[in-house]
Amino acid sequence: MGSKNLKAVVVRGKKRPTVASKERLNQLARWGAANLADSDIAGLAKYGTAETTGSNQTSGTLPAYNYNSGVFDGWEAIDGTTMYDTILRGASEGKQDREGRDTCYACTVRCKRVVEINEGKYKVDPHYGGPEYETTSTFGNYCAIDDLAAISKANEICNKYGMDSISCGATISWAYEAFNEGKLTLEDTDGLDLTWGNADSMVTLTERIAKREGFGDILAEGSERAAKKIGRGTEAFLITFKGQEAPAHMPRVKRSLAVIYTTNPFGADHQSSEHDPAIEGDFEFYTDRLAVLGFTEEQEVRSLSDEKIRFAMASQHMYSTMDSLNLCQFVYGPAWQLYGPEDMVEFVRAVTGWEDVSFEELQMVGERRLNMMRMFNAREGIDRNADVVPEKLFKPLKGGVSDGWVLDREEVEAALDKYYELCGWDVETGIPTTAKLEELDLGWIVNR
Ligand code: SF4
Repeated sequence: MGSKNLKAVVVRGKKRPTVASKERLNQLARWGAANLADSDIAGLAKYGTAETTGSNQTSGTLPAYNYNSGVFDGWEAIDGTTMYDTILRGASEGKQDREGRDTCYACTVRCKRVVEINEGKYKVDPHYGGPEYETTSTFGNYCAIDDLAAISKANEICNKYGMDSISCGATISWAYEAFNEGKLTLEDTDGLDLTWGNADSMVTLTERIAKREGFGDILAEGSERAAKKIGRGTEAFLITFKGQEAPAHMPRVKRSLAVIYTTNPFGADHQSSEHDPAIEGDFEFYTDRLAVLGFTEEQEVRSLSDEKIRFAMASQHMYSTMDSLNLCQFVYGPAWQLYGPEDMVEFVRAVTGWEDVSFEELQMVGERRLNMMRMFNAREGIDRNADVVPEKLFKPLKGGVSDGWVLDREEVEAALDKYYELCGWDVETGIPTTAKLEELDLGWIVNR
């Protein structure tokens, strides 16, 4: 989009969509509202996605110091509970459940945050919502910053100027590491001190990136292009996949993410597949749902077994289907218990009237979408050569419970081979085979 000077695509319609069975749809929708409080995602609803900060700290999967560590001592100051108790709109009067929680269109969960700060160094306008877990991580633990007001200000700036807070925060954390390793000087940063934990510099830099001022202009291109421009060995600090900065879920611990981040057609994405704990330690909570996807055996923690790769691929297909249906993973994903895979089928039946539609058929919708994206990339010259794991992930984590955990190069290469094979893609090139495309009714794409 950037190469075409395209900022956004807006689609507006005036007609209301028709629904095969309004009554059935309403019944399904009411069920969700009635059962939310007793569900697995009641905490997500109340405390937002940043509720997971604590569990990620405990499991050593909270990326800190630009992905050099899986733990951050200051995590409690920036987690979802602290946000709920202190800066969510209405918190001072105990009205934050009503005033500080927002929603995507018509969602009963309302996990989105609205923060308001009127005192202190950083005033934050509630108009721009509030930080998600990804944002508290990239501007917080990635940079070793434990200042929730500063993080909320950076979030406000990102939302105001239409910047992605993952890429922006992670690019800043790359600069912090380069500075702390002596590869960048105050002269490079226009006088900004990027010592780990410096919140003021982080906020200033976010603003300068948005306005493309000075050093901010270099970072506005993202960390990969900035590293190329600056050189001096700063490429070693990158955590990018296809030029896109990694989100806050750790592939050195959740190892199937190493495969999905690497092969995903549009770069690293934490919402493109189910994460490993669902089929590892948390397996007993999700047995029924995972059985729908064909998984009945718990897998070893931090393994990259063939079954784990199959789990990554099958859940990726399901997530791709959810994207196609405009459904949220927190509500329908196999490891988020409100609705689940079978309810997704029921919703499609209620809306379309296609009574014979099955889960398997919907899985194929997601698979078709992924194959189309891979073919689009192939046409543009992007194939397995672009599926590259950042070098940093082959260096061990430091500190806490995940100290020393690291990806093994040979194991990852073997897992990638297995993934392409399971997908029906050519193992050498990573491009979907003609046979696979024809199986998916996509034969028309061959040679386009
Ligand atoms: S659709 Fe998903 S992200 Fe949006 S408010 Fe509902 S649960 Fe949260």
